Amino acid sequence: MSTFTVVNPATEQPVTDVPLATVAETDAAVERAHEAFPAWRALPPGERAAVLRRFAAAVDAHVEELAELEVRNAGHTWGNATWEAGNVRDCLNYYSAAPERMFGRQIPVPGGIDVTFHEPLGVVGIIVPWNFPMPILGWGMAPALAAGNTVVVKPAELTPLTAIRIGELGREAGLPEGVLTILPGAGTVVGERFVTHPLVRKVAFTGSTAVGKRIMAGCAEQVKRCTLELGGKSANVVFADADLAAAAAAAPYAVFDNAGQDCCARSRILVERSVHDEFLSLLQKAVDGMAVLDPSDRASEMGPLISAKQRSVVQSYVEQADVAFTGPAPSGPGYWVPPTVTLSSSPDDPIWREEVFGPVATVMAFDDEADAVARANDTEYGLSGSIFTADVGRALRVARGIEAGNLSVNSHSAVRYWTPFGGFKQSGLGRELGPDAPNAFTEEKNVFIAHG
Ligand code: NAD
Repeated sequence: MSTFTVVNPATEQPVTDVPLATVAETDAAVERAHEAFPAWRALPPGERAAVLRRFAAAVDAHVEELAELEVRNAGHTWGNATWEAGNVRDCLNYYSAAPERMFGRQIPVPGGIDVTFHEPLGVVGIIVPWNFPMPILGWGMAPALAAGNTVVVKPAELTPLTAIRIGELGREAGLPEGVLTILPGAGTVVGERFVTHPLVRKVAFTGSTAVGKRIMAGCAEQVKRCTLELGGKSANVVFADADLAAAAAAAPYAVFDNAGQDCCARSRILVERSVHDEFLSLLQKAVDGMAVLDPSDRASEMGPLISAKQRSVVQSYVEQADVAFTGPAPSGPGYWVPPTVTLSSSPDDPIWREEVFGPVATVMAFDDEADAVARANDTEYGLSGSIFTADVGRALRVARGIEAGNLSVNSHSAVRYWTPFGGFKQSGLGRELGPDAPNAFTEEKNVFIAHG
């Protein structure tokens, strides 16, 4: 049996060894999930809701333990990690209301009536990346279970620990055997088997666009449902009429949160030319003031990158770029990269076009509203973005003009579990979260009943 050594990114010290599931173990888990499906879907909706509420309460009782695990496993700051564990609890609570609200429709048709049902799919496979191990698990698991599916989860190789613990909490809270199985393993082994196994009826994948394309191609073989939440290169558009101090204070959190390892990172900052220099000096002050500290320090706002490999990828982008300034970072062990702001003059710069996935923002000037929208849209991605302006009409025009799934106005984030989340263009396919998410784990069936 092969294992993976989990390493603490802030100390570079091993934390623990985690066994990696084989194809045979994956098949056995999928079969157990398939066997568990009929009873789970048949549970009266109120009882399924009660189990999910107990699961949420169990997560709530272990928020600190889960957060500590994530600080050690992923280098997330204490503040982020406690928020993330709380987000799993909140998602479970939110979707625990869904089993009793899986409404169908009644459609008038000649000669009778037509009623529709949302039928669960069966076994759902959820593939999670390393950057947000807990929330992304919760965003797939909670609505899929609520809709009556059984779930197999593959956490990322680098960050399996919180998922394993959440799986245990689910069992302790009363999820029946086989309803939720956490399967740490390699993407090319466990993840690919979710795609090829005929009993897995949907794959909810979050990760890179390159792997997402493979998943979609693989799912096509069986016309298997898939949701893809992929990469991003989002724009933060700052107009001259904005509250520049507020925009500059928010910008670091929009891109350096989770050390920039965030699919929604607003890593392209577009600033109206007339305020470009003023904004940059305000941004420099904000970046200088960031608390880049050991992630277990309660005051830390930014921790290290996940791995030495990720740090060298990020550094190779910075080496080719025009660096305007950098913020603080600890010396000594840990995969640290300081928050870094670079300048881009050409939209062909790799740092302007490619997802760096580290604490690196690049700034470019624009001339007017049309230019801002064109530059924001000049990317294959379309996940998120922000607009800072005092003009409500412009905010709406630009928000409607930017081809991205999640936009915020005068705020650095648009991600909330009660609103839909997902990408345009190569940032993905389908939506998670929001009130409709459980339906994405069902098939809609219509039944015609003749009047006779
Ligand atoms: P990745 O694509 O390398 O891996 C993601 C997951 O897929 C991991 O669990 C991995 O083991 C698995 N995997 C790898 N190869 C596979 C294969 N052939 N078949 C099945 N599964 C396979 O991505 P990553 O480096 O872990 O995560 C970073 C990427 O995720 C970034 O591009 C980021 O933007 C994206 N992301 C997107 C969202 C979103 O909601 N849109 C959220 C977080 C991260």
